Amino acid sequence: MTEHSCDVVVVGAGLSGLTAARLLHKHDLDVAVVEASGRVGGRAFTLENRELGMVSDQGASLCVPAQSTLWQLIKDVGVKVWQQPPAETVYVTEDGVSRFTPTSLPTWNPLVRLDHYNVFSTMDRLANQIPPEEPWEAASAQEWDSCTMKDFFDRTVWFKSVRRITDAFVRVLACAEPEEVSMLWFLWLMGQTGGGRWATLVNPAAASAGEYRVSGGMQHLCKVLVEQLGDKVTLNCPITKVKNVEDGVLVTGNGATWKAKAVILAVPPPCYNKISLSPALPEAFHHITMGHVYKCTLYYKTNFWGNGSR
Ligand SMILES: Cc1cc2nc3c(=O)[nH]c(=O)nc-3n(C[C@H](O)[C@H](O)[C@H](O)COP(=O)(O)OP(=O)(O)OC[C@H]3O[C@@H](n4cnc5c(N)ncnc54)[C@H](O)[C@@H]3O)c2cc1C
Repeated sequence: MTEHSCDVVVVGAGLSGLTAARLLHKHDLDVAVVEASGRVGGRAFTLENRELGMVSDQGASLCVPAQSTLWQLIKDVGVKVWQQPPAETVYVTEDGVSRFTPTSLPTWNPLVRLDHYNVFSTMDRLANQIPPEEPWEAASAQEWDSCTMKDFFDRTVWFKSVRRITDAFVRVLACAEPEEVSMLWFLWLMGQTGGGRWATLVNPAAASAGEYRVSGGMQHLCKVLVEQLGDKVTLNCPITKVKNVEDGVLVTGNGATWKAKAVILAVPPPCYNKISLSPALPEAFHHITMGHVYKCTLYYKTNFWGNGSR
C-alpha cells in the first residue's frame, strides 16, 4: 500500500474537483486530486476529430455569463470563449417537432404564445425566490419539494404544444422526466444558470446576452486547471474507502492511501454508493440516481444552414 499525506484530498477530477483544488492550492494548502478514470474532465469531455481538425463537446458545452462561478473561473484561468451564433432550436419528440429561435416562438397564435411566456416567466420568477446556497430556506421550499415538475406543468400549462416544449426543457436540463424531479430542485437548477434567462425564448433583448463555448472545448478548461495545479492529480485511481480518523481522514483506492486533514468528494452523488464511507451518509443519499443522456455529433461537408462554406 502506497501512503501519501497532504492537507486535503479531492476525489474526482471534474470541473468541481479541479475548481476546489485550484482554490485550495491558491491558499497554499497541499492538495491531492484523485480521479477514477484515465482522464480529467468528468462530464466535460471533448472529442477531437484529428482528421477534420475539429472538436466536439460530448458533455458540457455551453456557458453563459449568468453562470457567474464558471464564468469567473474561465476568466481567471485565462481560456478563451467564443459566442455561439444564434441557432434554431428543434425539439423532436414522439408527438411532433417544435422549432424556434431565441426571438421567435413555434407559433403565432397569441394564446399559445401567452401560455408559453407565462410558464417560463413563472419558472424564472419562482427560481429567483430560491437562495442559491440554501434552497431549503426558500419560503415555499417544503411545498415545492413535495411535488414534481409534472405537477407544476399540469396546473400551469394550457396548450399541448407548449407542454411538449416544457417537458423537453426538463429532459434536456435535468436528463430526467418531469415526474422524476422535485420542483424545488429543478427551479433551483434554473436559478443557477441565471434565473430570468429562460423567458428569453420570447424576449429578444434578454436573449442578446448570448451563449458561449470554450475554445478547444470544455475539457480544455479542465486540462488548463490541471496544468496550473502541477503534479497534484492522480489518474486511474477509483477511491473505494473514506474513513474519518482522530486527526483527519484516510482516503483509500487502488492500493494507495492518502492521509489528510479533510476530504472533498467531488463525484456525482450516485457514485457515493461505490465508496465505503465511515461515518456513513444518511440513507437518502443511496436513492439518488443518475440521468441518462447521449450526444451524437454529425459533421457536414458544407455549412448548408449558413453561408454554404465548406
Ligand atoms: C450531455 C451533457 C451535457 C451538458 N451540457 C452542459 C452545458 O452545456 N453547460 C453546462 O454548464 N453544464 C452542462 N452539463 C453539466 C456539466 O457537465 C456538469 O455539471 C459538470 O461537468 C459536473 O462536474 P463535476 O465535477 O461536478 O462532476 P463530473 O464531471 O461528473 O466529475 C466527477 C469525476 O469524479 C470521478 N469519480 C467518480 N467516482 C469516483 C471515485 N470513486 N474515485 C475517484 N474519482 C471518481 C469521475 O470519473 C469524474 O471524473 C452537461 C452534462 C451532460 C452529461
